[in-house]
This record gives sequence, C-alpha cells and structure tokens, in this order.
Amino acid sequence: MQEPFERALPFELADKLEAEKNLTDEEFASVLLCDYPGFSEYLAEKARTVREKYYGKAVYMRGLIEFTNICKNNCYYCGIRRDNSNAERYRLSEEQILSCCDAGYELGFRTFVLQGGEDPYYTDELIASIVSSIKARYPDCAVTLSIGEREKDSYQKFFDAGADRYLLRHETADKCHYEMLHPAELSFDHRMQCLRDLKEIGYQVGCGMMVGSPYQTTEHLVKDLRFLQEFKPEMVGIGPFIPHHDTQFAECEAGTVEMTVRLLSIIRLLLPDVLLPATTALGTIDPRGREKGILAGANVVMPNLSPSDVRGKYLLYDNKICTGDEAAECIRCMAMRIASVGYETVIARGDHVSFGTE
Ligand code: SAH
Repeated sequence: MQEPFERALPFELADKLEAEKNLTDEEFASVLLCDYPGFSEYLAEKARTVREKYYGKAVYMRGLIEFTNICKNNCYYCGIRRDNSNAERYRLSEEQILSCCDAGYELGFRTFVLQGGEDPYYTDELIASIVSSIKARYPDCAVTLSIGEREKDSYQKFFDAGADRYLLRHETADKCHYEMLHPAELSFDHRMQCLRDLKEIGYQVGCGMMVGSPYQTTEHLVKDLRFLQEFKPEMVGIGPFIPHHDTQFAECEAGTVEMTVRLLSIIRLLLPDVLLPATTALGTIDPRGREKGILAGANVVMPNLSPSDVRGKYLLYDNKICTGDEAAECIRCMAMRIASVGYETVIARGDHVSFGTE
C-alpha cells in the first residue's frame, strides 16, 4: 500500500500549488525533481487551465528589436560579452530602429521590445529620444526596454519618455551563484536594486533566470521561485542556458526542455496572471520548444524584428534559430506554430492585467 501513496504525493503537491499558490521549499524541490510518468503533463494541464481562465487562448506577440550587440559587460555565459573579440559588432541608428517599428506595426505588432548589450553609445538622452519617437509615431503601442542595469534616474527618464515595460532578468536569486556566472565587477545587489527601482517607478517589470545554467542546483531554482513569489513581476522570462563556443562555459551542458517547461508551468501556477514568454532559446534546444512552452502555460512569443543583415550577429548562444528569416516570414511561421497547438496570436498590446489573484 506504500507505493500508491508515494506516487500520489507530487500530484497532490501540484494540486496544492494550484490551490494555495505556495509550497514549502522541500515541496517545490519535489515538484521540480519528480520524474513520475505523466507528472509534467499533469502540471501543464493545470497551468493551461489557469492561463486560459485569465487570458483565454490568446498569445501575445512582441516585436523584438536587437538594436546593439556591443556590451561593456563580461557575463561568463553570454556570446556578446565584452571580451569576445570574435563577435561581429553592430549598432542600429534611431532611424533604423524606427523603420523596424514601421515594418512591425504593419505586421500587427503592438509591442516593441528594444533589447541590447549594455552599450554606452546609447546615452540616457538617446534612449529617451528613441522611446519618445516610437510613442509619438505609434501611441497605441507599448515600448519595452531590455538594456540592462542603469541608475534609477535613467530608468525614470525612459519612463517619462513613454517606456511602459522593462525586462531585466535577475539571472539567479542566489548571490553566490550569481558570482559564479559573472565577473566581480557585476553585483547581484545592484541588479536586484535595479529591479526594485523599476517597479517603484511604475514599469511593468519582467525578471527571470536561465534554466540549467552552470552550477545551478535545485536549491537555486527554489530560491528563484521564492524570489518570483515575493517580487511579483508582471512578466517572467525564462529559457534554457545554451553554451556559446566563445565563452568559458563553452563545454557546459545546456538546460533541458523538460525542466524549462516544468518551470513555466510552476510559474504560471505561482503567478496566475503573469505574462510568460515561450522564448527563442526554448525553440533553439527543441524544434517544438515554443509550442511545448505554450502548452505548459506560456502566453507570449517574441518574434525577431531586427533587420535581416544584423540578425545573425546577435548571438548570445550557439545555434540560435530564426536568424535568417524576414520578419514577415517569422510571424507567419509563429502564427502557424501557435495555431498548431490550439492557440491564437492576437494583435494587441497585451498588457499585464491584475485579476486580483492574491
Ligand atoms: N543586456 C541586457 C539584455 C540581456 S540579453 C541585460 O543585461 O538585461 C537577455 C538574456 O539572455 C539575458 O538576461 C540572459 O538571461 C540570456 N542569455 C544570455 N546568454 C545566454 C546563453 N548562453 N544561453 C541562454 N540564455 C542566455
């Protein structure tokens, strides 16, 4: 009689997570590690029910503009880190960024995500000017920034210029682990401070971590979940770590699709109304990774809007997908993929909606 009871326990924990949006650290670890047949599917089904309750079948599209791969930082895992002299560097002008938005608007995007390395060429004034030009041209669109760590007054300037959202992955909620992934000049405390500043200013904020990054343990992931629960971000970006050949983690193993989708489901149950992308990295380690992500509770995709001549240069990790396609082709492909699993890409800003799920 012992066995059926033990088999049922993680399933009960999934029920508990759904009902209480909380578990003990040990219980989180069991849910992360459980390898019972059918468990991931059980969790994914719950996550889908919750996401459909709040967001129906809608999948929001964000037009991703990777506007510079020049970076002053030297994160050990990242292909565009400062010391990678093999990276072919580029930056887009304000005009080029605006023409990406023009093309994107035509294609139905109502959110533009400006992502890049930490490139000092883009001063606060230049970023603010780019944001306000986009907002002046497309007042019905949201602008999301993902340009790393700056000081609070800079974040305030971007917000005043009209930026709506900010993505800054925390990368790991464990300080020691953070220090294993970054050189000493980067500080865990500063990154966390940035996240708090962004929230205080009034952005919709996204944080997140890589799954299966070097030295990551189950305890680290539990800490990440605890952090998400406390910080209550509007968006959570997670994707598998994928090695880049020109980094010191070149020989490390990539994160898995199984652990990434399991985490997507857990995060959906923890933060029912969160905006949760099925990322390009997930699509890179598995040809149906993004579809699996959607089926596990994700509700956002971020097709690439960068001009085709620079796409192949924004390489944070090896074998990145969609580096050759035109934006229009990306959208068509994405819409088809989403439809193939019974969901629907929509033309909408897709803001975070608080459904009072406290
Ligand atoms: N410079 C900005 C944008 C970073 S790129 C910033 O600091 O926020 C966006 C994300 O890509 C990073 O936050 C990181 O989590 C992820 N990333 C970087 N290298 C990666 C790799 N090798 N595998 C998977 N994800 C990676």
